[in-house]
Amino acid sequence: MPTIAPRVQLRYGDTVLDAGSGGVFEHRNPYTGEVQARIPLAGAAEIDAAVELAAAQADSWRRWTPEARRDVLTRFAELLIEHRQDFVDLQALDGGTPLHFGRRIIDNSVSWARYYAGWCDKLSGELISTLDTREYFSYTAPEPYGVVGIIVTWNGPVISLGMKVVPALAAGNCVVVKPSEFTPFSPDLFAQLLREAGVPQGVCTILTGGPEAGAALVRHPKVAKVSFTGGPVAARQIMHTCADQLKPAVLELGGKTASLVFPDAGDLEAVANRAVRDCIGVLAGQGCAVPSRLIVHEDIYDEMVERVTAIAATYKMGDPFDPEVKVGPLINAAAVERVCGMLDRVRRDDAGRIVLGGNKAGGDLADRNFVEPTIIVDVDPDHEIAQTEIFGPVLLIFEFSTDDEAVALANSTPYGLGANIQSTNLTRVHRLAERLNAGGVYVNGARQNLPHTPFGGVGISGYGREGGRAGIDEFLRYKTVSIIEPE
Ligand code: NAD
Repeated sequence: MPTIAPRVQLRYGDTVLDAGSGGVFEHRNPYTGEVQARIPLAGAAEIDAAVELAAAQADSWRRWTPEARRDVLTRFAELLIEHRQDFVDLQALDGGTPLHFGRRIIDNSVSWARYYAGWCDKLSGELISTLDTREYFSYTAPEPYGVVGIIVTWNGPVISLGMKVVPALAAGNCVVVKPSEFTPFSPDLFAQLLREAGVPQGVCTILTGGPEAGAALVRHPKVAKVSFTGGPVAARQIMHTCADQLKPAVLELGGKTASLVFPDAGDLEAVANRAVRDCIGVLAGQGCAVPSRLIVHEDIYDEMVERVTAIAATYKMGDPFDPEVKVGPLINAAAVERVCGMLDRVRRDDAGRIVLGGNKAGGDLADRNFVEPTIIVDVDPDHEIAQTEIFGPVLLIFEFSTDDEAVALANSTPYGLGANIQSTNLTRVHRLAERLNAGGVYVNGARQNLPHTPFGGVGISGYGREGGRAGIDEFLRYKTVSIIEPE
């Protein structure tokens, strides 16, 4: 169990740097709070060099045979598996990810890598016939963009990289990636394994940096498309830059997922277990798609509140390396302050009744970045706590009596990443799925980000898709070739 953070360097082409033009980030272990590494940050100079290398490789990489690209990316997926435990440990050092969830992230990333490796030799256009006196012969040909800029955030970077980098490469693009300085270790290993798998120098460069490095990547004129995962402030800045250059972007942003629970949901203990596991048990609630709003039918409301509260009370907080721990630290002290500020305002505004937790953790964890698993009932649906992302281990429970009320509550925020339904009545499920404002609707515990299904948001949750054919199409543009006989 490596509890010592590895050294991170900036690597692009043959260049290896211990210091970058973006300065140095003192990385604090999210659990102990101690500085565990000094991370060299890329700035505009290193980003520019990496984009130039990528641009120089673009023509060669897109002309690799699809089979050769597939074999390299398949080998990469195998290397991810071989290094599973390394990644699990690194994620605990990166962002305080508990072991049980760290394993899920890696297994998921492997699935995405395998899935998109398999697309390399299956990309094709279509033949289009038109009725015309002079016969047209038209076809479309998928082409890569050239250089794609990828920016990911700190919550589970390895899955974000699997969802973005592998399909971008499979489509024949070169990529320059900027992970968050808060989680530098696992993306660094990801980059090393791409090299080891045989991805040529310059085709994929991963450079850790701060927001300035991200901004430099977006505005680089040789970056033809941007794929971003993060928050709304950065997303708006990115869109402004993209608008100036008329550059397309995929935006995977935040969410406020509602989970509707009906009396016919089946085993209510299993439903309650999932409700806690998928919110509080996912990175202490720091997930874009965590179902943070449980919307429960009045007939089972009291029972569900009781079950959910009892289960959440058993969730152990602590050292992410402790296999029993289900709730790790928040990413940093500022995050704890933000979440506790929201909880204070719930009390101040009488906007809900806190039935479990509601405070910064005490005892042995008092001087660390922990917030107690928290359940809030009788929530004011217009309050900030019900309208914005919390990004902490907080589950809100609402009550409804009719389907219309349930839909209205679920659709009452500007987000639209996912929505969950717990019901065995499939007629109801289909009817409600159509009415929920969300990029995806998941029923009875169906997993959200399966590689073969598109994932993404509507509303302020962003646009564009990752997963399935739609996900690789984001990294392709279709050229139309039309031919007629000369007159
Ligand atoms: P953030 O938006 O502040 O930063 C994300 C990344 O963007 C970082 O690498 C950062 O350095 C970079 N960045 C910041 N400003 C930039 C700029 N002006 N130009 C270019 N790059 C810039 O991240 P955050 O708000 O702390 O991240 C959490 C958010 O990410 C949450 O809202 C969460 O829901 C969302 N998220 C979404 C998904 C998804 O798939 N939909 C997945 C994970 C996280």
